[in-house]
Amino acid sequence: MSAAEDTPPVSTHFDAIIIGAGFGGLRMIYELRQRGLSLRLFEAASDVGGTWYWNRYPGARTDTEAWAYCFSFSKELQDEWDWPERMPTAPQMRDYLGHVADRFDMRKDIQFNSRIRSAIYNEAENSWTVTTEHGDSFSCTYLISASGLLTIPVKPPFPGVDDYQGELLLSSRWPKEPVSFAGKRVALLGSGSTAVQMLPVIARSAEHVTIFQRTPSYVLPGRNYPLDDAEREEIRTNYDKLWSQVRNHVFAFPMTPANRIARGTPSDEQQRVFESGWEKGGFRYIFETFDDLLVDEESNAIASEFVRNKIRAIVDDPKTAELLCPTYPLMVKRPAVSNFYYECFNKENVSLVDLNSQPIETFSETGIRYGGENHEFDIVISALGFDAVTGTLTNIDLRGRNGLTMKDRWAEGPRTYLGMMVDGFPNMFMISGPQSPFANIPPVIEGAVLWIGEAIAQIQKIENGAMEPNPEAVERWRAHMNEILDATILRKGEAVHCWFLGANIPGKPHEVLFYLGGANQYFGELDRSKESGFSGFTIGASPRARDAMLERQAS
Ligand code: NAP
Repeated sequence: MSAAEDTPPVSTHFDAIIIGAGFGGLRMIYELRQRGLSLRLFEAASDVGGTWYWNRYPGARTDTEAWAYCFSFSKELQDEWDWPERMPTAPQMRDYLGHVADRFDMRKDIQFNSRIRSAIYNEAENSWTVTTEHGDSFSCTYLISASGLLTIPVKPPFPGVDDYQGELLLSSRWPKEPVSFAGKRVALLGSGSTAVQMLPVIARSAEHVTIFQRTPSYVLPGRNYPLDDAEREEIRTNYDKLWSQVRNHVFAFPMTPANRIARGTPSDEQQRVFESGWEKGGFRYIFETFDDLLVDEESNAIASEFVRNKIRAIVDDPKTAELLCPTYPLMVKRPAVSNFYYECFNKENVSLVDLNSQPIETFSETGIRYGGENHEFDIVISALGFDAVTGTLTNIDLRGRNGLTMKDRWAEGPRTYLGMMVDGFPNMFMISGPQSPFANIPPVIEGAVLWIGEAIAQIQKIENGAMEPNPEAVERWRAHMNEILDATILRKGEAVHCWFLGANIPGKPHEVLFYLGGANQYFGELDRSKESGFSGFTIGASPRARDAMLERQAS
């Protein structure tokens, strides 16, 4: 069946269709309106929020400080919003994004409860046909994906899961109604960022929580605290400085580089600096201690051992402490941030199962069988991660020129230029697409949205205009991703199922999913791209659309 035959008739045409109402989609609405384009945003959920809509699990909160995990495009928005805590909870993030949607009257352009099933490029029309799960079709000139990095959850792949009769909860599809753990025996599958945020909260009320760990995470203390009026006022007064720091920082955090390296620093001074970073909490342990932790194995080893020693000091049982100690270098998997995670293992109602010595044999009706025995659980929580970054686009029927599917285009790993566009997919843009920076997401999104706005303005100048990257530029960008990766220690993540190398999903190509050259360098790339008139991209009249138009005019 051809692409045209299997989509229902189109009801409405928009200049742009956006997929996803998280940070990226909302910011894109604002940008497109400024430029006078008609648009509609489709969102699978019943409200805005994206990641923060879906991830309602107990303990979900940002691990970036509130004042930089937000939008910078509106001074009024900055001035009127009161952040309650250093690292806001998921409900607080939903409040913020809901407020943005209301304040800028965005909901009228959003169609909720509408998951996109397919998006197909029609070359003769130079337009995209977008179809929802309900079978409604719309067309647009510009297709903009803002569907997130961590959207498609890994489902528990263990035998017998369907036989389990207790409550099985997926961390990123958490129910809206509160879940009570009181008196419940809970199994928590996974020990990544999600699970380590959840454990301390669930352990407060559950009868017992058993966490199933395959690879331990490095868990940095969040040191979260409520903000008071004086701190909020200081943040507001300093926003210009803050955004300038963000723009110049490798991970787009409002931090200044440490300007020192661990190599060659006397050992007692190293320990003093790491201690101070540990006390500050969150990613300050990595970015405000020494600048060579990602590139120098010896320096990294010292930072990694420092964390292991903290674990040994906090966790009373030495055997459990050793199981919680990662043996791979810090950062080759994304470190997690939590509050009182390691302390939990001193509680009587928390236990750890090391899946390397006691793999899950099967699920049963009443629980999970491991170590040769059935263990009963009332609730099983799956926090097994995501088909990250590429999964959102390879899991819908997305077809570019000549019916090429994104799944096929990316069969050997993602191919993009600047993480923005893919050759063969004209006028399709990605916000936080693969091969864009691994960094604090909202500033990266804002950089991408501004670039997309400019690109669309250029295309708009041309009748039947179409833009796509040149294959050479795409190949060059891919080679560049690998050069950068090889200049770091991060390729070691392949051995420990690192998701940003595609190594957490069986059969997924092991290819770096991010630009690791630093958000600051990337913002420079985007600026140079705009200044050069989008070098590496072809912008011109779509030849097939032009021919079709001439034919129509002649008949
Ligand atoms: P994740 O980091 O991929 O962790 C998944 C966990 O499940 C890992 O412990 C993994 O073990 C385990 N696992 C997966 N498949 C398994 C299997 N077949 N058998 C046994 N164990 C298995 O996923 P996540 O915790 O959801 O976090 C993903 C990302 O989301 C984070 O890195 C972060 O970027 C983001 N996140 C951010 C926040 C925040 O900002 N506060 C919170 C949560 C998540 P292995 O390590 O052995 O694969």
